[in-house]
Amino acid sequence: MVQGVGFRPFICRMAAKHGLFGEVDNRTDGVSVIVQGDLKTIDRFSNDILQNAPPASQIKSIEINATQFSGYDSFKIAGSKTVDNQITEVSPDIAVCHDCLEDMEKDPERIDYAFINCTNCGPRFTIIEGLPYDRPKTTMKSFRMCENCNSEYNDILDRRFHAQPIACNSCGPVYRYKDSVKRLSGIKQILEEVSVQIASGKTVAIKGIGGYHLMCDALNNSAVSELRHKKQRDSKPFAVMFRDIFAVRKYCYIDKAEEKELKSWCRPILILKQKEILSVAVSNGLNTIGAMLPYMPVHYMLFRIIQTPAVVLTSGNISDEPIIIDDLMAEKQLMSIADSFLSYNRQILNRTDDSVIRIIDHKTSLIRRSRGFVPRPIDLKCNVEGILALGAEQKNSFCIGKGNQAVMSQYIGDLKNPATYNFFNETIDRFSDLFRFKPEFVICDHHPDYLSTLYAEILENELNIPLIRVQHHHAHIASCMAEHGIDEDVIGISMDGTGLGSDGNIWGGEFLIADLKGFIRFTHFDYIPMPGGEKAIDEPWRMAFSYIYKYFGDSFDYKSVPLFNSIDSQKLLLVKEMVVKKMNSPITSGAGRLFDAVSAILGFCSAATFDSEAPMRLESAIDGETNDFYPFRAAKTIVFADTIKAILEDLPRQKISVISAKFHNTIAQVILEVSRQIRKDTSLNKVILSGGVFQNKYLLEKSSYLLTRNRFKVFTNHLVPANDGGISLGQLVIASKIRR
Ligand code: ZN
Ligand code: FE
Repeated sequence: MVQGVGFRPFICRMAAKHGLFGEVDNRTDGVSVIVQGDLKTIDRFSNDILQNAPPASQIKSIEINATQFSGYDSFKIAGSKTVDNQITEVSPDIAVCHDCLEDMEKDPERIDYAFINCTNCGPRFTIIEGLPYDRPKTTMKSFRMCENCNSEYNDILDRRFHAQPIACNSCGPVYRYKDSVKRLSGIKQILEEVSVQIASGKTVAIKGIGGYHLMCDALNNSAVSELRHKKQRDSKPFAVMFRDIFAVRKYCYIDKAEEKELKSWCRPILILKQKEILSVAVSNGLNTIGAMLPYMPVHYMLFRIIQTPAVVLTSGNISDEPIIIDDLMAEKQLMSIADSFLSYNRQILNRTDDSVIRIIDHKTSLIRRSRGFVPRPIDLKCNVEGILALGAEQKNSFCIGKGNQAVMSQYIGDLKNPATYNFFNETIDRFSDLFRFKPEFVICDHHPDYLSTLYAEILENELNIPLIRVQHHHAHIASCMAEHGIDEDVIGISMDGTGLGSDGNIWGGEFLIADLKGFIRFTHFDYIPMPGGEKAIDEPWRMAFSYIYKYFGDSFDYKSVPLFNSIDSQKLLLVKEMVVKKMNSPITSGAGRLFDAVSAILGFCSAATFDSEAPMRLESAIDGETNDFYPFRAAKTIVFADTIKAILEDLPRQKISVISAKFHNTIAQVILEVSRQIRKDTSLNKVILSGGVFQNKYLLEKSSYLLTRNRFKVFTNHLVPANDGGISLGQLVIASKIRR
């Protein structure tokens, strides 16, 4: 990966360093370098490339071929770039690099300059308006380069050669500060004021790379609770930015793979196991912390002067709306939440949230794919040119096809929110513009009511292009197959919350025999009524009741379960009536609902205040090792009567942490058992695990372990989320297969 990351100028600098003449040229499959000189020098040169390559580049291999060349008397960047080449040259945003941080202390033009950047670092995607990626096509266009910046920009040997956002104290963007009584300018003065605010428990709205954040002291209980209260975010965990890796190590357990990810130039939020509690209001009873390290110069500068080693840094928005990027909007909408505003005078054009990652099984598992990842293309083995895949409805992302590459949008969010739906519309237009994309073929979810489906139908009519619809869980499985370049029959296991099935029911505990074209449903979790429909997702106690009622009926003593004592009897009666009379009770095989039910039975979460709260609390309760599991029956469907019965029996006498572990082990056993049955019937051996439930670290590690030990080949999502954020990639490759 050498495009859009300053790779060719880097090669020029390396050649100059080693006194080599020749040229460098972009090719579709990498970069070609011609150097003329003796073998030893060329060896050193190529080693240097490997050792010092720009952080956002990735070198798979260097091949050296000897050829006859002569006549070079300099080193140059060759060839005229074709438009097609430029298309993939939009780099994701890159955390400020080490060299720039050093320059902030010694470069006379850039002492304490908070917008410092170079070809190796700085904003990219968030400031780009169009291609080619040149300064006039970015939101830096309103800043005229000073003479000094201009000469660096044009000096091929300078680290800032063609660094489009190049700027310094005399010509670039600046920060400004505002609260109810005063306005400040000058970064030093501003940061002193901000540090006073943070120390006194206030909330500061701070403009980031891809949108506004809200910030407060992560160790100050009343500050965090206050922010939580004002943001109307009842108990969803807040992300935390730590001063440095030492602070992370104090509060979180972190291994080598996690540390590498946390320090990477993408600077994601990493879900880590909590070691020491910050404010209890940060994670609200979960045993994890969403941790990140500073990535903008201003973050580093701030941590130089604030006392606290950790601040809450949560996206600046009202409940479920998209993260705010506009300054006026921020002031208007965040006024009731923030005590002050730390902003700057460069426009954010492309909204991106912080990306969220969890290391599962020593590998990267993306939960939210946005800043630092978008719009880096994903290489595919099939041609997807002209295909627009619109994704699902929650955690939406969409994908456009360019040749053999998928360009996936940033995390968009829940389309049911009108502001988010606008963001979806705008981003499709932006991507079409930026990547010179014109849809020739549209694909969407099978669900007729998803707003992404409605959008697809509009396109179908307006552009008169073919539209196909694909089953939700088939797309989940295909997303993982696409990542691994698999194009054959597989055992596809989708553990998910919802997704409309081909029979009109809500699926989500699915065992499929699938290829990219289609699937057969081998078996699935038992169908259970969802009393109240969507309401049963918000109130897991309804699912707890529904499971118990399905398996044990009227004779069961509901008051023997503590959960039901806490539920209003009238409500309980009403829910029972809905189930009995099959009123407003769609049936579901969703694994998410089973996790909800068990979480509620164990007393973790009878009503959810945020998405997936019940399963998250259930997973979080696991502590220590056990391989025990509960009985289940894998017949025509997977029946959990014995499982629920055993859990209820364990409830009064066993530690909750053990019950939770045993329940997770049960699901892993189900996965193994059914995989074996499928292998027996079909001799298939490749197992794809996808769907939102596999964000559960314990479950995915346990399932992979059991399957691998039983000689299955297991594949999981790494480049796109296993949740609905990855669906569009699956849709894209399915479309490529079907349209032929
Ligand atoms: Zn830099
Ligand atoms: Fe899904």
